Amino acid sequence: MNFLEERIKKDGIVKPGNVLKVDSFLNHQMDIALLNEIGREFHRRFADKPITKVLTIEASGIAIAYPVANEFGVPLVFAKKSKSVNIEGDMYVAEVESFTHKNKNQVIVSKKFLSAEDHVLIIDDFLANGCALQGLISIAEGAGATIEGLGIAVEKGFQIGGRVIRNLGYRLESLAIVDAMDAETGEITFRAQ
Ligand code: 5GP
Repeated sequence: MNFLEERIKKDGIVKPGNVLKVDSFLNHQMDIALLNEIGREFHRRFADKPITKVLTIEASGIAIAYPVANEFGVPLVFAKKSKSVNIEGDMYVAEVESFTHKNKNQVIVSKKFLSAEDHVLIIDDFLANGCALQGLISIAEGAGATIEGLGIAVEKGFQIGGRVIRNLGYRLESLAIVDAMDAETGEITFRAQ
C-alpha cells in the first residue's frame, strides 16, 4: 500500500451512496504533510511533461492542486462554480454536475489565465463519474491548451469516470484506486497498481 492508501485505510470513512469521507485529512481538516507528499508524488509522475499550469475546480480540488503547482513552480488556476447565467464572453464555461451535491453548476475560468500556449496538468481530489474532469478538460480544450495529463488523489474504480477519461486517450494517474467499499463493514479494497 502506498502512503495515501494507508491513510485512507486508517482514517477514511465509507458512507452510504458510494461516498468515501476523507474530511479528517484531505478536504475539511487538511494534513499538510500528506498534501505535500501528494504534491511530490504527482511531480515525480509528470516530471517528463512541460507543465505551465495546474488546473483544478473549487473547493476541495484546490488543496490537492496547491502542493502540485508548488512542486512544478507554476501557477494554479481553479475553475469557479457560478450560478450566474450572464456569463461574459471573457470566460471559458463548462457545465458540471456535482456528485456529492447532485446539482449542476456552470464552472468558469477567465480567459486571462489559460491560453493555447499552456501545457496543463488537471488535478482533483476524487474521480467518480468523471463530470468534474470532463468540465475541466472542456475548459482547457476551449483555451486551445495542451492537456499533458490528469492527476487524481482518490479514484473510485467501481464508478465509470476512470474508464471514460482513459478511453478518451488521456494519461490519468490516480494515487489510490478504490475498487470496492462497504458502508456496513467499512472495508475498503484498493486496486493493485
Ligand atoms: P465526478 O464529477 O467524477 O462524478 O465526481 C468528482 C467530484 O465529486 C470531486 O470533485 C469530489 O469533490 C466529489 N466526490 C465524488 N465522489 C466523492 C467521494 O466519495 N467523497 C468525497 N469526499 N467527494 C467525492
